[in-house]
Amino acid sequence: MLSRDDADLLTTPLDELMAAAAHVRDETTGTRITYSPKVFIPLTFLCNDTCGYCTFAQPPGRVAAPYLAPDEVRAIARAGARAGCHEALFTLGERPEDRYDVARDWLAEHGYASTVEYLAAMCEMVVEETGLLPHANAGALSADELARLRTVSVSQGMMIESIRDDLDCHRAAPDKDPARRLATLEAAGELAIPFTTGLLVGIGDERRDRLDGLRAIAASHERHGHVQEVIIQNFVPKLLTGMRNAPACPPDEFLWTIAAARLVLPPSIHLQAPPNLSDDFGVLLDAGIDDWGGVSPVTADHVNPERPWPDLDRLHSVTEARGFTLAPRLTAYPEYLDDSFAGPERWVDPALRFAVLDRSDAEALGRDDPGSQFPERVHGTTETADGADVVIVGDRSTQWYSGWNADAPTLLPAPTAPVQGAVAEVLAGFEAGSELCVDEMVTLFGARGREVAAVAEAADRLRRDTVGDVVTWVHNRNINYTNVCTFKCRFCGFAKGKLSLNLRGSPYLLTLEDMQQRVREAWELGATEVTLQGGIHPSFDGDYYVDVCHAVKDAVPEMHVHAFTALEVNEGAKRLGEPLEDYLRRLQAAGLRSLPGTAAEILDEGPRSILCPDKVTTQEWLEVHETAHRVGLRSNITIMAGSIERPVHWARHIERTREVQRRTGGFTEYIPLPFVHMASPIYLQRKARRGPTFRETVLLHAVGRLAYRGLIDNVQASWVKIGVPGVRQLLQAGVNDLGGTLMDENISRAAGAIHGQKMTEEAFGSLVAPLGRQLARRSTLYDIAEPATN
Ligand code: SF4
Repeated sequence: MLSRDDADLLTTPLDELMAAAAHVRDETTGTRITYSPKVFIPLTFLCNDTCGYCTFAQPPGRVAAPYLAPDEVRAIARAGARAGCHEALFTLGERPEDRYDVARDWLAEHGYASTVEYLAAMCEMVVEETGLLPHANAGALSADELARLRTVSVSQGMMIESIRDDLDCHRAAPDKDPARRLATLEAAGELAIPFTTGLLVGIGDERRDRLDGLRAIAASHERHGHVQEVIIQNFVPKLLTGMRNAPACPPDEFLWTIAAARLVLPPSIHLQAPPNLSDDFGVLLDAGIDDWGGVSPVTADHVNPERPWPDLDRLHSVTEARGFTLAPRLTAYPEYLDDSFAGPERWVDPALRFAVLDRSDAEALGRDDPGSQFPERVHGTTETADGADVVIVGDRSTQWYSGWNADAPTLLPAPTAPVQGAVAEVLAGFEAGSELCVDEMVTLFGARGREVAAVAEAADRLRRDTVGDVVTWVHNRNINYTNVCTFKCRFCGFAKGKLSLNLRGSPYLLTLEDMQQRVREAWELGATEVTLQGGIHPSFDGDYYVDVCHAVKDAVPEMHVHAFTALEVNEGAKRLGEPLEDYLRRLQAAGLRSLPGTAAEILDEGPRSILCPDKVTTQEWLEVHETAHRVGLRSNITIMAGSIERPVHWARHIERTREVQRRTGGFTEYIPLPFVHMASPIYLQRKARRGPTFRETVLLHAVGRLAYRGLIDNVQASWVKIGVPGVRQLLQAGVNDLGGTLMDENISRAAGAIHGQKMTEEAFGSLVAPLGRQLARRSTLYDIAEPATN
């Protein structure tokens, strides 16, 4: 007997059903369509089953060897990593050793008791050597086998195909028994494995059978929450198979099943249909899918070798033509990898968590910068003067990372095209005058594809309206007076204990005379500002910072002293037992004029308690800056992005600082500082991402420009972390300031950044020239010190 819902699904006209399914998708995943850039590793073509539609499985006489050798697996995986893939999809026949002596013998000869054991070893090798995330597709498995693979494979999959146990095509396929497959699905749920399953449409079952199959999947998911996606695949007849003369799955049948799946399955289950099995694959979006599945730039679809993958440009254009954006994902979906939905602690084996993190962006999707990514091995550092350069060995990634010497990919300028969905709505509200709230900032931080250009364009327009076309810079010198620090910030590659001689160079402490010497040199070279910051040396008391100010002013009275983070100020006051405001007034009297925003890192206690648990709290940072503003000092806002935090933390950081600015007006600029991961302790401990992607870097600047509208006029890009080609693009995304010449910049360099330690007016000039904008030198407090020069 049919349930009422089933009756509706079976009788509703297809176009109505598809519209309802698309609506559910739109409400759940918005404009974002995902895909997984992958390589296909066909570990063995031998199979215990003979399915009537399959060209993948081959008899032993038709294959060169029963299994791919480790070197062959390695070569495919490395090609995939080089081409920018994230996933190694292991596809293989089911238990060939149960059927073929050659398989049994090969495994025994190579020291493996089963195909699953060999698969586990190859997954382990691939993730270790290439960083690709394995997804094992090994068929109907026991709980023990699933558990073994869970330690080496981020996610696993097995198609249910059909709930019917009497299909002709499965007569010679004992592993396709639906009861066995549902048992595998259930065991995967009990083991907390992010799992992919699905139906094969057009192999002899009926619509009501498919509804039963979907409900069985939904029921298992409701018990365990593990079904991350369901694939609806259409049967296409293939030569040399038992079903070669069977009709292909009719398009309407396929579309009906996709739409029904979207309406039957919980919205939390993603819905996928392969783009390479339909000529007009855009219509699949109309039926409610939100994922294109694995798409390989390197290997063929070995299950459907006659149907090549669409190239990524086509996938992009078809997706965007229907108003969506395309985002690469990892083998497991973000819900299983970020802190929502119990996160990686529940769903990912500890041995794999770093591999996942290493390929993640801030939304737990796949990093989307073009180029390759390989696991990084830091060998040590070479010491230079009072800093250290990090030495990385092994396969080199070619992707852009903050601080690394690969050029940023070109995201801007980009042709602007109308966007729709949540990003468009937020931008429309903003243009109508609303201030961005936290949720709206998070929406903008999630922009992809042409949405990024739309956000950047809005920020660029606001920049032009606010400060015009002038690009400013300040002639300054950085003086990092000591790298000895009693604090233990886990992202900091700069500080070291007094006697430590480790990866990061030797401890040093400049004398006041050293500093004066550098101040005089800087003045002679034309600098108007010195930026002083350093570690918190155990021997410092609060008077040390006052003495530093005096020393600078004694050396060059005209020099602007831009110095001391909120941590240094807070520690100084605390060590003297002096009220913060009194202490700030003393610093001001000694010559201090403004404070750098550094030490803000991320102003949210969630990530902050992990990144820098003993540092000033969010509240203390805000208080130091608000008090500084009250006594007449100025300061800026920095944000360190791309380690462990999420976009919501960026948004809260902006909101909290915006509230201070509303009260004081004392912040001069907003400066996103992309996390430089290379020699950062938290990255070396395998607990952080590789900094923001370049798309995220663009959005950090652009969204900041929009969010501080009317409150902060200047947005600065850090050339030392981003590099010239990247900064040039940021100047088209709301940025109007290039910061300082720096001269000696050690902090980013100690974390592995290699964009150099100083810039000149000429270098800034050639950075700006292609944009036709004017370069102007400014003072620290944004008085334009010289007329624009080009
Ligand atoms: S970030 Fe600053 S406070 Fe933290 S360890 Fe490094 S130098 Fe010390």
